[in-house]
Amino acid sequence: MGEPLTIRTLRERNRAAVLRHIITAGRTTRAQIAGVTGLSPASSTNIVGDLIAEGLVAETGLMASQGGRPTSVIQPAADGAYFVGADFGERGVTAELFDLTMTRVDREWCGDGTQGSGAVAGRRMSAALAALRERNGERWSRVAGVGLGLPGIVETSPGGERTVFAEALGWDPVPVRELCETDLPIFAENGAKTLAMAERWFGAARGIDNATVVLIGRGVGLGVITGGRLLRGEHSSASEWGHLRIDPRGPVCRCGRRGCVEAVLGSQGVLARWAERGGPAYTDDAAGISALFDAAEAGDALASAVVDDLIADAGAALGGLVNLFNPQRLIVGGWLGMLWMQRFGQRIDTAVRAAALTRPGRQYELDVCSFGEDTVALGAAVMPLERLIAAPAQALLPRSSRSVRR
Ligand SMILES: [Zn+2]
Repeated sequence: MGEPLTIRTLRERNRAAVLRHIITAGRTTRAQIAGVTGLSPASSTNIVGDLIAEGLVAETGLMASQGGRPTSVIQPAADGAYFVGADFGERGVTAELFDLTMTRVDREWCGDGTQGSGAVAGRRMSAALAALRERNGERWSRVAGVGLGLPGIVETSPGGERTVFAEALGWDPVPVRELCETDLPIFAENGAKTLAMAERWFGAARGIDNATVVLIGRGVGLGVITGGRLLRGEHSSASEWGHLRIDPRGPVCRCGRRGCVEAVLGSQGVLARWAERGGPAYTDDAAGISALFDAAEAGDALASAVVDDLIADAGAALGGLVNLFNPQRLIVGGWLGMLWMQRFGQRIDTAVRAAALTRPGRQYELDVCSFGEDTVALGAAVMPLERLIAAPAQALLPRSSRSVRR
């Protein structure tokens, strides 16, 4: 299926491998580049020279080498390229600007705390992007693209038209191009999948070819990395675990069905269960969950029972993922998932192992996301980064309003 391996494609592939290593390593040497990529020292040195000439890589000093002779340090050139990553949250959109070291250099949030339609989300995104552009005029000509982390299924038609289906948020299907007003290239993916990509590139799944990354907050999502690749399925809706029904007689989910993972494990489902049994009602999810976990830890019988149920349900749901995907690492993220891990990590682990089959249950390790709650935007920014790595020249082609930097 792949294109024939001409000298040019081979060269692009080698160059992509070198650039990828330099960006993920952050700091490396020509010898390490050759060692990691398997290229000859001469080829590796040539490619590094090209990348330095293009302004994507910089030689930043000397460090001691094994032989004792100092060797040059090679790093990504922070201002060589920029990427925007956006997290379409339920109460607003966060757009973040990253440099080529994937350090966040600016951030803009646009929202009013209410959940809006797809059209509202698109207006928020466009306003956030305009604010970033306004503040980063110098950098803007080196922005390689905008990645959107979206709260639903992102499907691409055979003609290349991309559409978002965010059924649980009550959105009508919305074309991706209506979610972001810009002349920059737009990339789009489900937010849980972008989270998994961020963890794979820079976080807890780095170097792990089989990782299962769950996102637990008000919504619940999943990104599966299998054989080093993100699982997408035929039309990219694979791993829509949040709406996997685990209890047909369970609570009603936002998608209208009963007993989805999200309705059981998401923050609103957990708080509703506490309130139904006589616990207090909270309008703020984060405050309510903290109060519930505090009460359980202080020995409150009702709160403890709700938390015991939550851990058993989490074990069943995550244990199912262990059986399905045989991960080497099971990574829990999202604000609520991170809180679970902080408060009850050991109990969750025990519950997952009890629910999974014995053999795969002994073959994974449980871990927590590396980047806290901000990972969706970083993962979204990885999409234009990947494009830059695959084809640097095309990704930074000057557009009408941009100038070529020499
Ligand atoms: Zn559902």
